[in-house]
Amino acid sequence: MSRQTRMLRALLSTLHYSGADLMLAPYTRGMGAILKLHHVRPEPAGQFEPNRSLKVTPDFLDRAITLVRSQGFEILSLDQAHQRLVEGEADHKPFVCFTFDDAYRDTLEYAYPLFKRHGLPFAVYVATDYADGHGDLWWLALEKAIVASDVLDVKIDGLPRRLACATAQQKEVAFQTLYWWLRTIRETDAREVVRELCEIARVETANLCRDLVMNWDEIRQLAADPLVTIGAHTRKHFALSQLPLAAARTEMAESIDRITFETDRQCEHFAFPYGDAASAGPREFELAAELNMKTAVTTRQGTVQPEAAQGLTALPRIPMNGEYQKPRYVKVLLNGAPFAIPGLLERRASRIGAR
Ligand SMILES: [Zn+2]
Repeated sequence: MSRQTRMLRALLSTLHYSGADLMLAPYTRGMGAILKLHHVRPEPAGQFEPNRSLKVTPDFLDRAITLVRSQGFEILSLDQAHQRLVEGEADHKPFVCFTFDDAYRDTLEYAYPLFKRHGLPFAVYVATDYADGHGDLWWLALEKAIVASDVLDVKIDGLPRRLACATAQQKEVAFQTLYWWLRTIRETDAREVVRELCEIARVETANLCRDLVMNWDEIRQLAADPLVTIGAHTRKHFALSQLPLAAARTEMAESIDRITFETDRQCEHFAFPYGDAASAGPREFELAAELNMKTAVTTRQGTVQPEAAQGLTALPRIPMNGEYQKPRYVKVLLNGAPFAIPGLLERRASRIGAR
């Protein structure tokens, strides 16, 4: 566990045990929150699992749902949350929306039965190439390449580097070094680098999407349930800000149209891939509005304040991060106090929850 994670856990616990989060809640909680999840799987994180922040257990999710309700939050669909934001603040309880990015199969296997049992709504954002089985889950491919290697020779910004990957700790350092460097270069180049690393490590990634992501039949199965909203997440999962305008629009529009066609339900909600400031900005927020999205979500962290009604296509979310699987962390985050401390949650360690 990183030092930042340890410090943030300690801070969240302090806010909880001191009751400060509850005292601040009237000023920081806003109208509610949109929670962001990726994987829901029962097995504990392995020794080297750099994408572990993206995974929570079904048991924790169940406890989080119970906590959210016991704290007086209403769990709403994105349509209901949109309506509430448009109508403005009335005498409502604060709301929580649960959202799942990338449409992993474990959403259907482990999350859906929980929400079904509770009779509660949630949303899934689909990147259409992933559902077609040929998308590029490059951050998982990178993990596989590092698992299979004892050493990796790479050129980082033109300079040759040899990254030791023999132990779990070395693998972790290699992943963090490569991932955050790859996020700084052109995404098509980054994906090419990962493809080459996989080739050298003799790692097969052709079936990664088919193995991990729901196909259209499975997505239709979810879409047929009124509890489930299917939102769009582009076709190829590129950081849209890096693309020319026409390409960004096509990525968004084609995924929205495809989901509408495949599910026979109008797709009206969108999530920006990665969703940080370098991946989605005012141009993309405007595009989502032009494409008639009722809401679009980022990975900027925060609660949803009343002003969000003027920025429905740039909504913040709160990650349900695998490193923070305690109901008290979720409670403190939903109460909003950590977001009132400037810069606290913008650090790299917490942003890793964004894919
Ligand atoms: Zn994603």
